[in-house]
Amino acid sequence: MVEILLLLAFILLILFGGYFYYQSLSRKPLRRSELDAFEKGLYELLDGDLQSSLKSLHLAAKEDPENVFIRIRIGEVLRKLGDLDRAMKIHLELQKREHLSNNERIAILRALVVDFEAANLPQQALLHLNQILALNKDHTWALEHSLKHLAEKGDWGAYLQTARRLATLQQKNIDSRRMAIVSTLEGDRLVANGKGKDGRLRYREAIKYDLNFPASYLGLAESYRQEKRYDEALQEINALVEHCPEYAELAFPLLETILFEQNRFDEVEKFYQKLTQQHLHLVHAYVALSKIVQRKGEYEKAMKILKEGLDLNPSNELIQFEYANLLRQMNRVDELAKLGLDVMKRLAPPTSSYVCKKCGFTAEKMRWYCPSCGSWESFSR
Ligand SMILES: [Zn+2]
Repeated sequence: MVEILLLLAFILLILFGGYFYYQSLSRKPLRRSELDAFEKGLYELLDGDLQSSLKSLHLAAKEDPENVFIRIRIGEVLRKLGDLDRAMKIHLELQKREHLSNNERIAILRALVVDFEAANLPQQALLHLNQILALNKDHTWALEHSLKHLAEKGDWGAYLQTARRLATLQQKNIDSRRMAIVSTLEGDRLVANGKGKDGRLRYREAIKYDLNFPASYLGLAESYRQEKRYDEALQEINALVEHCPEYAELAFPLLETILFEQNRFDEVEKFYQKLTQQHLHLVHAYVALSKIVQRKGEYEKAMKILKEGLDLNPSNELIQFEYANLLRQMNRVDELAKLGLDVMKRLAPPTSSYVCKKCGFTAEKMRWYCPSCGSWESFSR
């Protein structure tokens, strides 16, 4: 008898256990009406139901007027609804409250940064980012946002410091190419302000970041030229050619300035000759060499140089143009005709300016950062 009762009790236990287990599985999440108004408002904000969210948040703010975070959210919803003025007003009002904690202060500042970015007031955004960083120098969100604004402002010194701190905090490898570009831009700024020595330190730093970034060698060469240290300048141009031959043409104008200033004409020719021998596809070197030879009146030789370059790079428009142009100057109509109509059409010189591939901004000189759209290394001829 006792065994039967025990068995019954056991069966009942299993049945109840199973029932409650099933109940727990099928339990529905809290309904919205059971949430408090703040949570409800946040859910609605996440769902993109901005009008309902605004209502819930206002209700929550009424219940808890001291709560800074509810007011911040109200401002954010208004910003999303396009009412930037009221959003900013709410966030600015919050700043005037007394006894704010650090977290509250930072949250308000963060909302203001986004407001100012939306209002296209980058200087104000940067000012508030700096206030966040004054409260917490390791605030990664603020550091990341600062980078964008510092680049726009061209404050490369601060950019370098910020990028280094961010990389340490995130334990990420630093983007060496980016750092080389920024160090070089800072070097350019210093050199332009007459601080050649400081500028050169930045260029050397850039080379440490990326041996194959051409503009740092170019910057060094230009700063040495300004101080009439010509041989050191030429050394840097040679280093550029050695480490990034594909960018050699960037150094041509400077090289010619330095050597012509000192009447070292033969060396210019030798430099280009060596380049064409070592790098068969550097069309700019063939063109530069042919121009030097033309200056000496040796047109046949110039023609031979261009023909050689054209044979090696038959589809290159620049060399096609230069070759066709020289033929025309020399009245070699038959040979010009042989090149075909295709090339005849191209008797307008290929453009010599640099264009941003992302936004179409044009510049006379090669650029590494687009001042118009903020892209990096987006320029080409
Ligand atoms: Zn651009």
